Amino acid sequence: MSRISEIFGSMVFNDAVMKEKLPKGTYKALKKNMEEGTNLTLEVANVVANAMKDWALEKGATHFTHWFQPMTGVTAEKHDSFISPTDGGGVIMEFSGKELIKGEPDASSFPSGGIRATFEARGYTNWDPSSYAFIKENTLCIPTAFCSYGGEALDKKTPLLRSMEALNVQALRILKLLGYDDVRKVDSTVGPEQEYFLINKELYDKRKDLIYCGRTLFGAKPPKNQELEDHYFGAIKPRVNDYMAELDEELWKLGILAKTEHNEVAPSQHEFAPIFTTNNIATDHNQLAMEIMKKVALNHGLVCLLHEKPFAGINGSGKHINWSLSTDTGMNLLSPSKSPATNLKFLLFLCAVIKAVDEYQDLLRTSVASPGNDHRLGGNEAPPAIISMFIGEDLEAILNAIEKDEVYSDSKDRTMNIGVQVLPPFQRDTTDRNRTSPFAFTGNKFEFRMAGSNASISCPSYVLNTTVAEALSQFADELEASSDFESSAKALIKNTIIKHKRIIFNGNNYSDEWVIEAEKRGLLNLKSAVDAYPLYTSEKNLALFKKHCIFTEVEVRARQEIVMKEYCNLINIEALTMVDMVNKDILPAVSGYIKSLTETAIGKKAVSSEITCELEEELISNLSSLSVCLYKSAQELDNALIEVNAIENVQTAAEFYNKKVLSIMKEVRGVADTLETMTASSAWPFPTFGELLFSV
Ligand code: ADP
Ligand code: MG
Repeated sequence: MSRISEIFGSMVFNDAVMKEKLPKGTYKALKKNMEEGTNLTLEVANVVANAMKDWALEKGATHFTHWFQPMTGVTAEKHDSFISPTDGGGVIMEFSGKELIKGEPDASSFPSGGIRATFEARGYTNWDPSSYAFIKENTLCIPTAFCSYGGEALDKKTPLLRSMEALNVQALRILKLLGYDDVRKVDSTVGPEQEYFLINKELYDKRKDLIYCGRTLFGAKPPKNQELEDHYFGAIKPRVNDYMAELDEELWKLGILAKTEHNEVAPSQHEFAPIFTTNNIATDHNQLAMEIMKKVALNHGLVCLLHEKPFAGINGSGKHINWSLSTDTGMNLLSPSKSPATNLKFLLFLCAVIKAVDEYQDLLRTSVASPGNDHRLGGNEAPPAIISMFIGEDLEAILNAIEKDEVYSDSKDRTMNIGVQVLPPFQRDTTDRNRTSPFAFTGNKFEFRMAGSNASISCPSYVLNTTVAEALSQFADELEASSDFESSAKALIKNTIIKHKRIIFNGNNYSDEWVIEAEKRGLLNLKSAVDAYPLYTSEKNLALFKKHCIFTEVEVRARQEIVMKEYCNLINIEALTMVDMVNKDILPAVSGYIKSLTETAIGKKAVSSEITCELEEELISNLSSLSVCLYKSAQELDNALIEVNAIENVQTAAEFYNKKVLSIMKEVRGVADTLETMTASSAWPFPTFGELLFSV
């Protein structure tokens, strides 16, 4: 066995381990639960728990934890050791089925959007057997869902699992109509491509903005940026290479299918991509990967930045969510096959996605909304805030032919371009790729490119799953009622194309013309997160979530409140950090520099009144007036924060942060960055962009 296959999954209580460690009957019951969602008895759980514990102890674990994903966006864990006292004053190692199935963390310190007042502290974590337990730092981690005492979801996993179930139910209805009676389960599959920056820890430690906010709030443009385009796919530097090698290894141990590592467009920017897997596991893995990316960086004297826009003026980081549908029989439902034009299965599922994306543009946009992502979307580096779909010329020609009742003839022998699955990879991309589209069909999957690098992929995933489930459910309602399936299906496909083709756009999404064209087509352009959040609770969206049992109205409203509060909190922290850096670092530094210029001028004069001090005088004068300007704008920012703190309504506050606070922050930054360009390097209080970006 190779070394990699030996370490791969070595810290995971995966299928192979279960098969080996569990009695046959228990293994079977557990598998059935994982595959079909049947209930587990406590008896089975007891046996599984005990086997898990023994396995974990063998691997050196001492503790266990229910690992969950509260609404903070990061994972949470509370460690308990396995020890249990014995009569003789010793201990034995114990872990029961009850402890495996249910945990009771104090829920009061996690965001709940008002669902649970602080005095109602009880919350439950509930084992998710569909995602394998794993060992991380001597702790057996059990993936769990997290809910309140009243059963409301307080996490990111629960709605995702619910949406996968909804999608499964509706997709099976369509497959049944198509005659695929053997399919028992349809899953969404996801492969997230994760972008990130690596910078020197030593430099990071000197910047409060990076420490408190994860992004720089100041920084003049360095002489060199990404204009030479010499970083993308460039040779990976040894230090980064070592980092990537260790990262791969750590991820492999956890059974994460780390596959691709490469340099990205911006200096110091990189990407990591795993091989796709089931949506739920892909989401858990992405959360784990983000945690481990940060941890491993520290071993190399580096810091991994996952913020969507750590540096103004160069590309930010996103997370491309590759998404498709697959059956337990191994079919990819978005695979066009050799003859997509006549492939009813493909066309129905494709049309369901088209309908879903068009009808729920607002929700999709909302699902990726965050203050960090606002800096990216529409910035000529990431898709605009307008949702549209790229399907490529070939598929568009097919849809056009269907719409016009024409027979699709493949005059340019395009079949080869579409039937990607049968092609060797080097021939795959004969059709140009559209890198600018927020939602692109890429062969046999869609790639949702708007998500931010820092966010969990749960929200965009469950929105996608649920909206497609809804489209499929409407299709199934119509088709089940018809006596002639084939002609009804064809009519349905045609009508869907006619109704929703406005969402399809194969051109350049970064162009100004597209913004105008999109408006003509009636597509939404929700520029900021604050514009998007309110749409979470539109009648239409509440009804959608309710119909598919993803959320109750209370749960959606809670989530909306949480994200809006988080928006306010994050910008508040940024603004406070800015004021702090201006008053305590930048102004004193400039003052010091002015002092040294003054001393130079005085010294010169002392030598001879003939010597010119024009340079010092001009610099002193400019630096002095800009300093006043900076001081005043920082004060203005401070005042705005006092004003916004008095606003009770969270949406009004978020709007104030978006309109007022952010614009004053821009002003402050403008002045500070100008001061940076005029101040001696030795006097500037923290590392510059040039140092941060070109030092690894
Ligand atoms: P591309 O070059 O188009 O980006 P890749 O083959 O590099 O495509 O895949 C990018 C990501 O998409 C990877 O994480 C990959 O595992 C994932 N992916 C491939 N097929 C599927 C699928 N059927 N469902 C979900 N993700 C997929
Ligand atoms: Mg890709």
